Amino acid sequence: MTGQYDGKPMTCREFDAVMLELIASGEDINTHPHIQSCELHRALLRDLQAIADAAKMLFPAEEDPPDDLWTKLDDKLKAATNDSEKKTDHSMAKVEAAPDDEEE
Ligand SMILES: [Zn+2]
Repeated sequence: MTGQYDGKPMTCREFDAVMLELIASGEDINTHPHIQSCELHRALLRDLQAIADAAKMLFPAEEDPPDDLWTKLDDKLKAATNDSEKKTDHSMAKVEAAPDDEEE
């Protein structure tokens, strides 16, 4: 997604919807116009950063990512990929977990 920084002010509700995505995508959220203008979200961001810092101390993931974490992520990715591949030979047993897929 682009065009979020086109100068149009965001409401707190709109910002809430994208804040975690921005953080997850590595954006420098401190420079976001909404953060600049909204004290509420500045405080929230400070809290989140404090939590993130604490988490880093507990789990120094950058230096030594836990095998388990990546295994789980990997499994999820594989499950997502396998899901579409399996569709062809899964005509008898419908996968309940993916009802959206059946509509296609
Ligand atoms: Zn706000």
